[in-house]
Amino acid sequence: MAGRLPDAEWQHRDGLKKVLATLNDFDGGPRYVGGAVRDTLLGLPVSDVDIATTLLPLDVIDRLEAGGIKAIPTGIDHGTVTAAIDGNNYEITTLRRDVATDGRRATVAFSTDWQEDAARRDFTINALYADPESGEIFDYFNGLADLAAQKLRFIGDANQRIAEDFLRILRYFRFLARYGRGELDAEAVVACAKGAHGLTALSRERIAQELTRILGLIDPVASVELMISNGIFSPFLPELSDSAANDLRRLVTREAQCGQPISLPARYLTLLTCDAAAVDKVAARLKLSNRMREGFARRLAAPAPKPHNVRKIAYRADIETARDVTMLYACDSDVQQCLLRLEQWKSPTLSIKGGALIAMGLPAGPLVAKTLRAIETVWISEDFPDAERQHDIAVQNVKAALSAIRKV
Ligand code: ATP
Ligand code: MG
Repeated sequence: MAGRLPDAEWQHRDGLKKVLATLNDFDGGPRYVGGAVRDTLLGLPVSDVDIATTLLPLDVIDRLEAGGIKAIPTGIDHGTVTAAIDGNNYEITTLRRDVATDGRRATVAFSTDWQEDAARRDFTINALYADPESGEIFDYFNGLADLAAQKLRFIGDANQRIAEDFLRILRYFRFLARYGRGELDAEAVVACAKGAHGLTALSRERIAQELTRILGLIDPVASVELMISNGIFSPFLPELSDSAANDLRRLVTREAQCGQPISLPARYLTLLTCDAAAVDKVAARLKLSNRMREGFARRLAAPAPKPHNVRKIAYRADIETARDVTMLYACDSDVQQCLLRLEQWKSPTLSIKGGALIAMGLPAGPLVAKTLRAIETVWISEDFPDAERQHDIAVQNVKAALSAIRKV
């Protein structure tokens, strides 16, 4: 693994050079840290850029403001200030060490010692720093070797690092899914299992946020299997379905085979039972968004997907729901056919309206809406035929409705 940071797109983002220049100090300049360094070394795209500095947070704010850059005190108690410039945000964090921890949050002391700052970070591959000018990498805990070996390792003793902050358990499995193709650190997994009870100390939102990130990865299967077999879900998701591992594996395999995008509601549903009320209870407890909860409900209310009814599901709910239930619940031999029926298909609208039925002789009133619903049902069962056929269906249904009235 190279000891120098290669050039990458993000290093040329608007405003970054100006932010870095503003933070230059006698003690030495700022350094890139965390995901930006790690992912650039791996040749992966970088989303957010984290910067570490020896300057104190208030000094950071003063300097940014003096340079005409907006400074947001995002997490000022923990030393984090966000610089907002030219449409980009850069997170700037003062070097620090944790002086007291309770498994949820830390009391910190600011520092000017880079190694000390590295030591409070979670994994060796997350504690790599780079000098923005020279690209020199600073690696205090053999992160480069671990990155090359695709090995996820806690900095220091895993048990202790987990007791300081239980969220690191979930971060462990998230980063394992992303970077841990190499030898598994069995001791770290045991430490996660032992510490799992501590997850109950965390807020449901933080747990759900990490779980969502894990489930949103391209291939979280091996990591989630490891979480299941080590009892990581038990403290916050005792409702985990017995077939969760198999169902998730099947979904992820299908997504890859069919070139379908990752769907979070579908990924979540593999972990849960098919009982809508039970799923909603879990979703409420994890404080998942209403949008997600409604998404679960629509998917669980849909009938078993088959090529002949998959458009009907899409029409009654939406295309994403139809696609997800196909990926989740269709039998192997139906999946391709169902997806094909949804591809480039837009949910149509019935062109016949109430006025047309009245023009055909139906009296205005509740019978119009009732007849329209009957027409819609036939139209759906005939796979949404065009306006001409809709007219014929309407004529038949108006006739039937009129003769029913006459009989009364
Ligand atoms: P990505 O943003 O791509 O998911 P990242 O490594 O940048 O990955 P962040 O969550 O943005 O992850 O955190 C930035 C850095 O802060 C991490 O690389 C790590 O060094 C440190 N960090 C974040 N959360 C923790 C934590 N709970 N315990 C210890 N260090 C942490
Ligand atoms: Mg990051």
